[in-house]
Amino acid sequence: MLKTRPPLLYTACVGLLALVGSTAVAPTATAGPGLAEAAGTARAAPIPTPEQHFGFKMGAEGKLAGYPDVLRYMKLVAERSDRVDYETIGRTTMGNEYATVLISAPKNLRRLDRLVEINQKLSDPRNTSPEEARRLAGEGVPFYHLEATIHSSEVGNGQAINDIVHRLATEDSEFTRNVLNNSVIVLVPSQNPDGQHLIIDHFNSTAGTDYRRTYPDLYHKYTGHDDNRDWTMFTQIEAQYRLALEKKYRPAIVHIMHQKGNTGSRIFVPPYGGITSENVPANMSSSVSAIGQHAARALAAAGKTGVGSLDYHIFWTLEQPVGFFPFTGSGVYLTEIASVTDYAYPQVSPDGRPLGPQQARMSLIEPYRSNTWTLADIVDYAKIATYAGMEYTANNGRDLLYDNLYAVPHEYMTKGVPAGSYAFVVDAEQRDPYATFEMLQRLEWTQVEIDRATSEFVADGKRYGAGSYVIKMRQPRGNWAHQVLGTDRYPEVRDCGDCPVLLPYAEATTSLPLQLGVDVAEIRAPFEASLERVASVKLPQVTMPPAPGDRGAYLVRPESYGTIQIVSALQDANIPTFRAAQGFDAQGGSYPPGTYVVPATPQARNVLATASAKVGLPVTAVARAPRVAGVQLKPQTRVGLFRGVGNMPGGWDMWQFDQYGINYDVVAAQDFQRKSLNELYDTIVLSHGISKDDIVEGLDPKEYAEKYSWAYGVGDKGWRKLAQFVRNGGTLLAIGSSVATVQELLKLPIKPALPDDEDEFVTGGSLLHQEFDPTNPVAWGMPESWPIWLYDTQAWELTGKGTVVSKYPAEGEVLASGYLRGAEHIRGTVNTASFDVGKGQVVTYGSEITFRTLPRAQFNLLYNAIYHGPAAEVDATGLQQLRPRFGPDGALAGR
Ligand SMILES: [Zn+2]
Repeated sequence: MLKTRPPLLYTACVGLLALVGSTAVAPTATAGPGLAEAAGTARAAPIPTPEQHFGFKMGAEGKLAGYPDVLRYMKLVAERSDRVDYETIGRTTMGNEYATVLISAPKNLRRLDRLVEINQKLSDPRNTSPEEARRLAGEGVPFYHLEATIHSSEVGNGQAINDIVHRLATEDSEFTRNVLNNSVIVLVPSQNPDGQHLIIDHFNSTAGTDYRRTYPDLYHKYTGHDDNRDWTMFTQIEAQYRLALEKKYRPAIVHIMHQKGNTGSRIFVPPYGGITSENVPANMSSSVSAIGQHAARALAAAGKTGVGSLDYHIFWTLEQPVGFFPFTGSGVYLTEIASVTDYAYPQVSPDGRPLGPQQARMSLIEPYRSNTWTLADIVDYAKIATYAGMEYTANNGRDLLYDNLYAVPHEYMTKGVPAGSYAFVVDAEQRDPYATFEMLQRLEWTQVEIDRATSEFVADGKRYGAGSYVIKMRQPRGNWAHQVLGTDRYPEVRDCGDCPVLLPYAEATTSLPLQLGVDVAEIRAPFEASLERVASVKLPQVTMPPAPGDRGAYLVRPESYGTIQIVSALQDANIPTFRAAQGFDAQGGSYPPGTYVVPATPQARNVLATASAKVGLPVTAVARAPRVAGVQLKPQTRVGLFRGVGNMPGGWDMWQFDQYGINYDVVAAQDFQRKSLNELYDTIVLSHGISKDDIVEGLDPKEYAEKYSWAYGVGDKGWRKLAQFVRNGGTLLAIGSSVATVQELLKLPIKPALPDDEDEFVTGGSLLHQEFDPTNPVAWGMPESWPIWLYDTQAWELTGKGTVVSKYPAEGEVLASGYLRGAEHIRGTVNTASFDVGKGQVVTYGSEITFRTLPRAQFNLLYNAIYHGPAAEVDATGLQQLRPRFGPDGALAGR
């Protein structure tokens, strides 16, 4: 059946959850002719094979079915089969279609409402007794969520699903009857449809040319390969759709299909290896270990070798779906299949020897003996592993429904979290109300229950005001809440006495409060408080103060990263904006350095009213602007982002800039044809990951067409123009590894402080304590101390003239959450520093302050600097009189 929802059942700012109302959508299936009693049979109109539809066999060398055509095929099958329903969920970041395909016996599709209701009841142990749950587990069938691809360059699985859908829609066998009668397949053909377009369209359009067939840039507009690393903040619409599907269907098993490099086993199936977190319940790994081994058996029976397991210790990291779903009661069945050359051409080992490890061991029982691996092999392995996963799920429905969907949240409810904590308390008084909102909203999106105190209470000896939030641990999502709200001590686990510590697969910690800048307290002992359930997390209501009169000013405090959105609105509307360089008292309030001061015009009032309401941050008014020195921001500051082609940190930076309304352009090779970059930009930001080579060499025009010319190299001449940009008065900001690039460009007086050797220093992605100088314009609004995120980048030592903005503590604890080996190397070293170079300014951020937009508590370090470099100083009288330094044309005046 074909179903199309009204597009975009969400609104951009609220995000996902409109889609997920708890009522299931009734399938419109009607019993058509030829509907058989068991699994049903195909209808009269013939369903073409993938080969008939696409013109080639799935897995044929050098051939890839394009995504729109795959969706057309799925729609066609749905039209002609009563076993298949097609549904459009919404539009992606780039406007493409995000769809699901439901496959089951017609009788199951007709009672889909009831089956979904059973899953919902099982998932809520408060309203379902164990006896009732056992009865429901007998009545229902497990849902098998099949995610064919999220990493768009891993194209083989997305081809295999055409064969899988065809088989399930048309075959009448013991296998299909079993799967269709005893499970519901929820297929997402692609978790990143945009990438399917970008990768496969590029591949097909370069056929017969001398250009490279592989797509050079990010295959998701903002996140690229990191589309799989968005599972605590759920920033992207595709992740929000996926979260909504979880909430709606409650799959007992989630099968996530990936491909990996081509040096290891041919396919990975569970059991997983490595370490796990005690927050993850045991049967979340054991149920999928059984599936993985069922698949290993099926692969062996089909004569397929090179089947590996005991790898991918996924249960520590939360940034990935594999780390998230176990907390919901969905067992994650991950398959990773070896890749080939240029997506679709055989991989042949250069020395003629067989591919992959050749020693048999328990993690690879029968090595792969051939020296060749093809797209057809990927398709074959994918199908066998998927059919085995479906078969196991259909055979074990009752157990999976009970053990996964019911027992997991039931255990959280009855036993509480392993750490034994009672609740987390979020004080009503916070430095950053916007950060608090964003954190609570993510908890709400992941179905964590939040209570709010209706009167003051005491917990762990501390008094909390009415309006403080309480997140109790004994709730169905208690372990998830504990995992994201708490801090971590990553364990030192080794495979042998002398072996190195097993580093996390992704990161050693995710602590939303520390990343966002929210004060929370983990409370162990139960406490009394009068609480009410928060129905929906909302921004604080703010109202504009009365207009202060002609000589007055509006003030906006600088602490919240939400102020960025207010500043960009002021910039957009060309409203004069000043900042006080010193703290001051005004009309009963005390304001820190960096407070924004805006002349009280009606136009400013309108802009401030709208922008402040959007982030829930108050604006105050004073009859007279403060008499302290300060700066005026340059009107409509021109920001350039050097993001780098295919560079994920640059993609995330684009997303962040787009979200916050920053007026920016991506710096392109064409810009370097100008006499000077200062003609175009006031500030240039170098994302993490930009090397001198990326700038000088860039993409090769012989390999990539004109369309990618923005990323061509700019040569040594361009390199020198970038240096000249700073000397002429430009502001250059370097994040993470790009600090070394800028050091090379401008011979900055800094040197790396950390050893390269992981045995001596490593964090694995952790939060470390940091001291800030809030009197420095780059750190205006920052607290004196708050943890920062450090992952594989440098800390620095000053060797000459420069200003330290933030540094690691010289004494005491360095690690705030996660893991740290070699604390002695980083103590007292510099993270953020600023330098005057010629007439310009450089700020270096040694740590990745914009990492996947997670460490939001540090964002102001970047945004302060973006606008401060081009700003003009005003003296105390000038600020009090709000005397503009810039003329209407944006040029400096009144010197
Ligand atoms: Zn992958």
